Amino acid sequence: MDNVKKLEKVKEEIIKNNLPLFDTAKNLVFGKGNPNAKIMFIGEAPGEKEDEQGIPFVGSAGKELDRLLSSIGLKIEDVYIANILKYRPPKNRNPSINEIETHTPYLIKQIEIIKPKIIATLGNYSTKFILASFDTKRMKNIIGITNLHGVVRSLNINGMEFFVIPLFHPAAVLYNPGLKSVLEDDFIKMKNFLDEHL
Ligand code: URA
Repeated sequence: MDNVKKLEKVKEEIIKNNLPLFDTAKNLVFGKGNPNAKIMFIGEAPGEKEDEQGIPFVGSAGKELDRLLSSIGLKIEDVYIANILKYRPPKNRNPSINEIETHTPYLIKQIEIIKPKIIATLGNYSTKFILASFDTKRMKNIIGITNLHGVVRSLNINGMEFFVIPLFHPAAVLYNPGLKSVLEDDFIKMKNFLDEHL
């Protein structure tokens, strides 16, 4: 079975299993991009625009992500993008632990299917989830993105090997313009790593 079909099956499972936030969201926001990508980006949760369209990163954070990708010569067809939460939390509140626990088994399935060589985590939630080796209980032990961003590590989780680069969330730039050049520099570091290693 090809990756498109495998991902479609995961999507059907999510719909069947009636996850928390299903009741308040308009649409499932599963993923977008290349199902065979070597680079996978993981964000936090869908916002209003994503909820309306059922597609991740189509709002203002998405525009910023598009800009950063094109700044290093990448397009959406070169990457796959998904989120920790598959449905929008009301008023974009932070994800709860129960929501993370119930939604991330499907993110793990996406990772297992795509088998990216490098995962770029966007913001604290996805960074902590990945660096805690998918163990939500260990997430609280992981330090914040401010001290982790821009450094590539190699991970082996359940026999799955990949590199991870934590990045500030593109939405953070919208609230804190001072982070723009930091995120741009981290994208260049990621590009240099890709050119050298992939
Ligand atoms: N922020 C995210 O983390 N994910 C989206 O899909 C949109 C905004």
